[in-house]
Amino acid sequence: MKTLVENITDLYKNRIELLKTKDNPKIGWISIYTPEEIFYAAGLIPFRITGEQGIDLTDASAFLGSNFCSYVLSCLSEGLGGIYPFMEGIVFLDSCDMRKRLYEVWVHNVKPRYSFFLELPKAINQPGREYFRLQIRKLITSIESHFDYKISDVLLQKAIDLCNESRRLLKELYDMRKSDTFFISSTATINIIKACTSGLKEEFNERLKQLLLFIKKQDNNGTKKKHRVMISGSYFDNSGIIDTIEKMGAHVVCEDISNGVKYLEGEIPQDGDPVEAIADYYYEKGSCARIIDTERRFNHMMNLIKEYGIESVIYFSLKFCDTNFMDFPYFKNKLAQNGIPVLLIEGEQNMTNIENLRTRIQTFLETRMFS
Ligand code: SF4
Repeated sequence: MKTLVENITDLYKNRIELLKTKDNPKIGWISIYTPEEIFYAAGLIPFRITGEQGIDLTDASAFLGSNFCSYVLSCLSEGLGGIYPFMEGIVFLDSCDMRKRLYEVWVHNVKPRYSFFLELPKAINQPGREYFRLQIRKLITSIESHFDYKISDVLLQKAIDLCNESRRLLKELYDMRKSDTFFISSTATINIIKACTSGLKEEFNERLKQLLLFIKKQDNNGTKKKHRVMISGSYFDNSGIIDTIEKMGAHVVCEDISNGVKYLEGEIPQDGDPVEAIADYYYEKGSCARIIDTERRFNHMMNLIKEYGIESVIYFSLKFCDTNFMDFPYFKNKLAQNGIPVLLIEGEQNMTNIENLRTRIQTFLETRMFS
C-alpha cells in the first residue's frame, strides 16, 4: 500500500503523465526566483525543469560546451530530447552566466511558443528592488499579451494564498525535523519539494496536509539522537550520497539548497500591492550563491545550523559551478571559526558511480562521530 509520502512524491514522479492530462498551458521554469504566483494567477501550470531525465549530455554539450555545469546540460538535454511535449513556454532567469546561455540555446533550438527572460539584480538595494519590480510588471504584460488573459490583483492574491499555503505546510514539515525524535529521510524531503514544484499545488497542499496530520498523531516515530548533518551548496539531488550518510548512522536534517529549505522560506505579505509584494519576496530571498553578498549567505547558513542543531556540513558544488565553488573557502574558514566541520564534494547532476565519494564521506563522518 502506498505511504502518505509516496502519495505526495507521485506528483513529481508521474508529473509528465499528470501534466499531459491538464488542459491549461504549461510553463517550464528553473530558478527558485521565478514567481510561480504570476503563472497560477494567469491560469497557467508552472513546473520546474529538473534535468533529471537528461542523462545523455552529448547534444547539450555540443551546443553549450562540456565545461558547463551538468545541471544546465541536463536541463537542456531534456529540452532537446522533447521530454516535455506539452510545454507552451519557458521563463528563465539570469541566476548565472550558464543559465543565460541555456536560455539562448533553448529559445533557438527547442523553439518554445512563449519565452521570457527575467533579469534579477545581483546586489540587494533599493535601485535593484525597483528594477526587479519593473521586471515582474514586464513579465505580467508579456503573459497577458501572449495568453490573451488579464491578470487582476484578485487573481494574484488568490495565487499568493495558494503558494503561501505550500510554504507554510513545508515549513511545518521542516520544523519537525528540528527535533531529535522525528526523522524523515532527506531523499523523501527533496522529493516532496520537487512534488511542490511540479505544477499541481492544490493537490500537493491537500496531500501534504494529510501527511502532517498523520505525523502529528504520532508522539515520536521512534527516532533517537543521531549526528546531525546539513547539505549546502548547488542544486543537489543524489540519493546515493544521502544513503551513504544515513547508513553511517547520521541524519541529514536540513538541505540548504534550492530544492530544499531555500524554496520554502518566508511568505508573501497578503496586504498591499500584490505585484510589489511578489517582486520583493523573490528579490529579497538572497540566500543563493548568485547574490554577491557572501556574508549574507553565510549568516543564512549559520542561522540554519543553529535552528537545526547541525553538527557537520556537506557542501556540494556541481563541477564548473563557479558561483558556489568560489564561496567555499570563505565558508570553510567561517565555519571553522564556529566549530563546524565541512566537507566539500564536487559532483555531477545525475552521477551514479559514487564509490570514491563514499569513502571520503565515511572518513569525514567517522572522525566527527566517533572521536
Ligand atoms: S549549479 Fe551553478 S553554474 Fe549551474 S546553474 Fe546553478 S548556479 Fe549556475
